[in-house]
Amino acid sequence: MNIFKFGGASVNSADAVRNMSSIVASHRQKPLLIVVSAMGKTTNALERLIPGIEIDEAERKNTFEQLKQYHHNIIDGLYESEGINIISEALRQEARRNTLSKIATFFDLLAMRMESTPTTYNFDYDQMVSMGELISTTIVSDYLNYLGISNRWVDVREIIRTDANYREGIVDWDTTRLNAHNRLLPILQPEAESSDQPVVITQGFIASTATHTTTTLGREGSDYSAAILSYCLEAETMTIWKDVPGFLNADPKYFPDTIKIEQMPYNEAIEQAYYGASVIHPKTVKPLQNRGIQLHIKSFVDPTQQGSVIGPFKSIKPQCPLYIVKHDQVLLSIMPKDFSFIAEDNLQTIFAALAALNIRVNLMQNSALSFSLCIDHNTVLLKQLQELLSKNFLLKYNEHLQLITIRYYTQKIIDQMVGGRNILVQQRSRTTAQLVVSK
Ligand code: ASP
Ligand code: MG
Repeated sequence: MNIFKFGGASVNSADAVRNMSSIVASHRQKPLLIVVSAMGKTTNALERLIPGIEIDEAERKNTFEQLKQYHHNIIDGLYESEGINIISEALRQEARRNTLSKIATFFDLLAMRMESTPTTYNFDYDQMVSMGELISTTIVSDYLNYLGISNRWVDVREIIRTDANYREGIVDWDTTRLNAHNRLLPILQPEAESSDQPVVITQGFIASTATHTTTTLGREGSDYSAAILSYCLEAETMTIWKDVPGFLNADPKYFPDTIKIEQMPYNEAIEQAYYGASVIHPKTVKPLQNRGIQLHIKSFVDPTQQGSVIGPFKSIKPQCPLYIVKHDQVLLSIMPKDFSFIAEDNLQTIFAALAALNIRVNLMQNSALSFSLCIDHNTVLLKQLQELLSKNFLLKYNEHLQLITIRYYTQKIIDQMVGGRNILVQQRSRTTAQLVVSK
């Protein structure tokens, strides 16, 4: 069995979904489990609808309507009339109506939740944002069935179990494995002498607690979902289909000349993702490494191209420096209000607050009198952190920064990257340099 993951960009329009369908159609020699993200920028839009978030009422309504329209347009595009004959036209219209009515249910639920009284940000987040994947997989699954690529839509919340750590659920591996075996393996049994093996379509990013409350696995978590299922089902390979030709040594959005990595050892990929390489979610590689499952990163634009493979290799091929830039960073300086130093007890209080709010620290540094940390910009969480810590600490922060990480750096490379900007924090190890710089 193979596992495929299609991210938001691979299903962001009717044409993209058609392209994805043709990739699926040409990989049916083995049973296939397909994990799909929310379409395009849906998750970002859903984040603006969470109750309690500061947003203008008209803008909120507008975002909701646009989101609905966006999905309707994709459905309309998929079932566009070709005007050939009346029977196929009737089937097309029926398929279209069927998907539209399923989607309507999700949007009704979304509208209801949008108007409800806020509880905690992280809980509300998961209840709202999870809708993106439920909607996208419904559209994709229906369309594949319509094309004759018969498949089963599975609600992954019945498979992946997490604790109630909303917005970053911690996986309960034993239960998840049991669920995957009991519910997915029977559907994914190879069919003898068939060139069309079974297909399952399911959601990335979302999961549920033991009491069936929806959770999510963290932004961009669909890769991780695919890796969890690969691990539990002992898949042969996992493939992430991307809009880039493979694992590149830098983000092509910001770097004109990038090098495609052909082979990368598991550990290097884990380091890369940890530092923020957006090509894979940080938690993705470990489960695959533990089972020796190779991870392919391939282009959905040009599916016949080789791509990159992450696996049990000794070194990167070809050898080159790797650049990771995190944008929209905040550098927070935390200083005790009394005359104490930054020591274990103060750090404990700070980390307890960070953990309570599920804030990920991208870089940290401490001196005697202040503890500095670099985090992703999030106004709501920053405010809550200030509230939690303001009793004992003074907080100051700098916004709009970049966190640059260079693996296998030289001084020349660092100078080029910084380009005369102001360096606020700098850390170097033998292999890795990290710099927080102004924009
Ligand atoms: N839709 C989610 C996100 O955008 C999960 C994912 O795409 O991996 O973060
Ligand atoms: Mg995504």
